[in-house]
Amino acid sequence: MSGLPTRIAPKREDRLRSCIAFGGTLCGAKDKISCGCMNDGDREFTQGSICLMLPGIAMLNSLPDNVNLLHGAVGCGVCSHSQNANTRSGNAARFGAVKDGVWISTAMNEADVIGGGEGKLRRAIIEADQLYRPKTITVVASCVPGITGDDVDGVIAGVQPLVSARVIPIHCEGFKTKIWATAYDAVYHGLAGTMLDDPDFGKRILEDEMEALKIEALKKNTVNLFNVSSMGKVDEDELTRLLNGLGCEVNVFPVFAEPEKMYRIKYAALSISTCPTHDDYFLKFFEEEYGIPYILRNMPIGIENTNEWLRDAARFFRREKIAEALISAENEKLNAALAKYREFFKGKKVFVSAGEFRALATAELMAELGFEIVGIRSFHHDEFANQEYEKLQKAAGDFAFNIANCQPYEEANLLKKLKPDLFLGHWNGNATAAKLGIPSHVIYNTGLSYIGYRGAFEIARRLYRQLSNPVFARKLSRYARLPYRESWYGEDPFKYIKGGEANV
Ligand code: SF4
Repeated sequence: MSGLPTRIAPKREDRLRSCIAFGGTLCGAKDKISCGCMNDGDREFTQGSICLMLPGIAMLNSLPDNVNLLHGAVGCGVCSHSQNANTRSGNAARFGAVKDGVWISTAMNEADVIGGGEGKLRRAIIEADQLYRPKTITVVASCVPGITGDDVDGVIAGVQPLVSARVIPIHCEGFKTKIWATAYDAVYHGLAGTMLDDPDFGKRILEDEMEALKIEALKKNTVNLFNVSSMGKVDEDELTRLLNGLGCEVNVFPVFAEPEKMYRIKYAALSISTCPTHDDYFLKFFEEEYGIPYILRNMPIGIENTNEWLRDAARFFRREKIAEALISAENEKLNAALAKYREFFKGKKVFVSAGEFRALATAELMAELGFEIVGIRSFHHDEFANQEYEKLQKAAGDFAFNIANCQPYEEANLLKKLKPDLFLGHWNGNATAAKLGIPSHVIYNTGLSYIGYRGAFEIARRLYRQLSNPVFARKLSRYARLPYRESWYGEDPFKYIKGGEANV
């Protein structure tokens, strides 16, 4: 593949020195980073994690006219069942009709492990092409072919002339990394190396002169807005509204984007990330390969973060005055609407848990709303967040800080000690807090609004309603139990992190 230096995306432990294990305080993490001592981290005991295939599949199942072919054991990709609600509602919101994601599996068995699964994969691609007639087939390689050494790329190259769909290899072998954010790199790698490089897709756009004229217009004023499934349609609409306010056209990539629409990202003035954790690998490649500059700085959750996100885009187009007028009007309206909520939230303690940028940006919003931040648990750490640590310390001081790829036992211990009034967690990540009787609210749900000015108001409105009556959480804790012994709560929550601190 032209601009991508390796056949598959490298793991983040190597590429970014990402970290999955830290326990201490925000300032402790900052110090470790500034002296260059933050390594990828390890635990003596680990309770659970997720495989990078999960976020990979979440993106791929959303692609319209795609068959997602999982090459591995039948259990790999079973998360598709729970993710399908997202795909259905996402399709309904964007295309006006409920539509399931299409995923199938080669269901490798013992015989395939011994004899190899290449023949099975080849037959599955041909069958999927004949059965569904999709525009694309993504072949997601999991652990088993990674271990047995199936030549997935070779099979695809061999079978491509026999099928009409564009076949795209996505390498998601779960054993190769503990950092599931590598999935974004893997999916981007596959899309960039096949679809964007494929002149057949180009022909559909470049065919006639009118289209060529359109391309020139796209190059002047279009912003590629990146969404790897961390935003729902309502959040895409908010950012599109704000970019339209600057006079820009917007093309959202890659979730729920048809192949032709994906190909159009080659014709834009600027690419802008909504989360640096997600997009750095692709945006750097994309600039080098297609000359489209990018902005990768913060996540537009929170008032100041949204202001800065808009200013960055406006600076590129030299539309700073328009941006300042827009920001001032939006801030004025929003602050008036938030006044009653701020009074209510003042001094309430909050613990935030999510992917790194989402956790940090949401904590900044919580500080803007008047909450006291008592702790953050982010799923991993990449170098892009270093400046966010600085920002957050200025806005909210120092507090407990945990980097953990799940590890609910650490979370339970921390929450018992910190006793927050509110827990904000990821989709499916609120059970521990809820069982401890702490009111909890989800900060990732593609049906709800979180981003931009609208998101700031909507989160505040929902939290106000929830905290006005916390009885549900209290009652739940009377009947639900966590599986830990009382003695665990007396221990240092970071006891099992190698080199962890006991600073809580
Ligand atoms: S860790 Fe390996 S075997 Fe398990 S779901 Fe992920 S790819 Fe499949």
